[in-house]
Amino acid sequence: MAKIIRIAPSQFTERFLHLNGKPFSFQNYEFMKPIYDLDSPEIVMKFSRQTSKSTTMANVMMSKSAMIPHFKQLYVSPSVDQTKIFSGDRVAPVIESSPLIKKHYINSNVSQNVFTKRFLNGSTLYLRYALQSADRLRGLSTDINYFDEAQDLNMDIIPVINQSMSRSLHKRTVFAGTPKRTKGTLAELWYRSTMYEWFSKCGHCNKWNFLDQKNVGLYGVICRYCGEHLDTRKGQWISTGDPTSRTKGFRVNILMFESAPWVDWQTDVIDYRKTCPNDAIFYNEVLGLEYDEGVQPITLADLRRCATGGPMIEDPTSVHLSSTQTTLGLDYGPVNSNKSKTVASIIQRCEGKTKVLYLKRYKGHEADYSFIHSDIPGLFAKWHVAVIGADAGLGDGPNSEIRGRIGQPERLIAFRHSGSQRAKAKWNPKSNEYTLNRNMVMTDLFRKIKNRQIEFPRWEDFEPFADDFLNIVIEYDDHAGTYKYVNTGPDDALHSILFGELALQLLTARNTMMG
Ligand SMILES: [Zn+2]
Repeated sequence: MAKIIRIAPSQFTERFLHLNGKPFSFQNYEFMKPIYDLDSPEIVMKFSRQTSKSTTMANVMMSKSAMIPHFKQLYVSPSVDQTKIFSGDRVAPVIESSPLIKKHYINSNVSQNVFTKRFLNGSTLYLRYALQSADRLRGLSTDINYFDEAQDLNMDIIPVINQSMSRSLHKRTVFAGTPKRTKGTLAELWYRSTMYEWFSKCGHCNKWNFLDQKNVGLYGVICRYCGEHLDTRKGQWISTGDPTSRTKGFRVNILMFESAPWVDWQTDVIDYRKTCPNDAIFYNEVLGLEYDEGVQPITLADLRRCATGGPMIEDPTSVHLSSTQTTLGLDYGPVNSNKSKTVASIIQRCEGKTKVLYLKRYKGHEADYSFIHSDIPGLFAKWHVAVIGADAGLGDGPNSEIRGRIGQPERLIAFRHSGSQRAKAKWNPKSNEYTLNRNMVMTDLFRKIKNRQIEFPRWEDFEPFADDFLNIVIEYDDHAGTYKYVNTGPDDALHSILFGELALQLLTARNTMMG
């Protein structure tokens, strides 16, 4: 049995693998074939419930084990229970019930335990688990690694685990999971992928449907445009991300499995929706879509939509310098803070939009105030900045230093956030600064981002600053009926841009109050 079978994994599955005593069939699920047969360095699969995630992985692993001698595959889930269930309920039944596998690939001499499945052709399946650390997985040598429930996996351990493939000629990584928020391990992988979505063409109005909550009809899948029944078995995979990405991403949802014998529309979709404790679970588990539970005012998708600018501009051109509406936003990170760092931003108003042209985070030796105090006046001069909008939260020290150095004290406007002031912004002559209603000015900025009235540099340059926005969550006080924004991590880039934007508003309406 040293014969190498050269067919696609989907063909192998159909011909040789059995499920519940019957050969496996792709009839009605033709869309799954490309997922089975993909040979790409990195694959990410987002599955909703009841869309055969575990079966797909077990079949792909089993096909490759059988077709390629001496092939080593590693499956990793976040917990021992999940791995035991996968091994016992998905992998073992395929081995046991497929006549070809049972006859030619196993006998009593090869190990078949929960965590290791060996085959007579020298191939091995390792079924392991790892949540925070990869210690348990050291020493394995593998060709493909599968990460299941990737939404719960710690991103940092992936490269550590993948060292097991350092000597392999194959080196493939497969991620599978059910989406959660737009931030997190699975989401990060998804957004850098080709983001293949199954689009289905309506047989009534001929329009192509992206599948989401608008396709949920009372009795089945409906066309989002005309409301007639939509046959989701017919369709096409279309890349909604970077089509050239080396990471191939697929989203599989229950709407594609409407006619599957194990799906009951009434129970699994309609009733489930009614009893779902919140929208997030319905989106994640039924539609296979990310959902931010409304606690995050700004999502990754919002930011990406605004990242339409060019590269970050280090050296302004004459066009940039001809603007009279250039401001510098400045948010200080406290001295000795490991997390919070001073961020400067250069902002211009252009064609009605606020354009963020440059961002700088002061790290390492540059985090030192003596460096910042000389660098900011440098940026001020280089960009022909009209006004600096700066954080007053650290007291007058840093701002009066910069005022002294630029020689025009009126061109630095200090802003201080307040949680209690009712007016959006109020001039405070005593302290020579504006006091801001923190909720209101932040909401204004978020609304501008949602409405794409702000343009960030292209994504690859803006990405290092994106977390400063995503770290903001809304905290409700149900009792008082109030809310506030709190940060779960650094937010300096956000406030830097906010102060720059407020300075810009003051500049355009110098003599009136902001509003
Ligand atoms: Zn239609």
